[in-house]
Parts: sequence; C-alpha cells; structure tokens
Amino acid sequence: MSKTENKPIIAVDVDEVIFPFVDDLIEYVDRQHSVKLSREEFVTYSLADIWKGGPHEGAEVIKAYVDQQGIEVAPVKGAAEALGQLCAKYEVVIITARDLDVQDKTKNWAYRHFPDIFKEIHLVGNQKDSVSYREKAEVCKELGVFCLIDDSLKPVVQTHAAGIKSILFGNYPWNQMEELPAGIDRVEDWKGVLKILL
Ligand SMILES: [Mg+2]
Repeated sequence: MSKTENKPIIAVDVDEVIFPFVDDLIEYVDRQHSVKLSREEFVTYSLADIWKGGPHEGAEVIKAYVDQQGIEVAPVKGAAEALGQLCAKYEVVIITARDLDVQDKTKNWAYRHFPDIFKEIHLVGNQKDSVSYREKAEVCKELGVFCLIDDSLKPVVQTHAAGIKSILFGNYPWNQMEELPAGIDRVEDWKGVLKILL
C-alpha cells in the first residue's frame, strides 16, 4: 500500500500514545483492589515493578486487567483528530510492543476508534516475555518508516540512531532521561505532534 500511495509513513505506538493504558489500569486497580495509584508512581513502565504485593502478584493483576480491558476505552486526548489530519499527508501504521496474544483485542480497539486510519498494525512484542520480539527500529527500517511516535525512550533512541525521525510522546515519569539525544523532539500531546508533522 505504501508503494502505491507514495506518502511518507509514520509509525504510532499504542499504549500511552493512542491508548491510555496507565490511566485505565489505575481506575481498574482502584475498582477491583481498592488500591490508589497515581501516574507519578510509574517510574518504570511496569506495574509489576511498583505493585506493593510484589512483582509476581503485580504481573497477575496486569494479566487480569488486560483480560477485562474493554473495547470502549476512549483514546488518548486529541489522538483521533490529529491522526485524521495526518493521514491526508502520511500513511499511518501502528508498531506496538504488545504481544500477539492481544492482537485481536488491539486491532478491534484500534479499528473501532480510528476507522480508516491505520494501514497496518504490527505487534512486535517485548524483549522480556515475547518469543516473537523484534526491535521497533528494525521493523521501522523494514517498512521504510519516516517517523516514529512513541512514549518509550528505548525505541525512540534506537530509531533516532537508525536515522529515522523520532518523536518522544508525553512527559511521563517513565520516559525521563538526563539529556535526550539531539534531534529527538519531546512533545506534550498530539497538538505538539501536529506542530512538527503538518
Ligand atoms: Mg507506549
């Protein structure tokens, strides 16, 4: 598809870029476990690391959360409007570290809330748990991606090093770094993305 349309390709991450995973998870643990968490506590992007009951129990809570995660969860603010504008100029694909076991859930949610936006959805897995794990930078190179938009430091730093335009999305406790490599733009929200890409 990219070849025929000939538009530059932008790759968008899912969690915390279009899907408000942490906020939805915080509501879930409040509802199910009466545990109050705040985004500020997520100094790493893993509930297992910060869960008071320990990493094993934290991993179980995450699994139960993901199992019940609904299709109706509203996207990150401004994402649908911004991507609607961007797809006039770019081809838009998803590259997410979600694993293949949530492929249907992820695709159903994305197509429901972003109809006619995403040309392809790639679930590359995560380094720790996935047998099918691939680095986002490698997948971006293979697809000929022009720009990656992601809230995690590692893929952004790696795609940047691979010569791909890289936008660090959001100012979150888990994506802080003393000094971002020159050329990586951090944006606060989707308005910031539009300023750079439109
Ligand atoms: Mg993310």
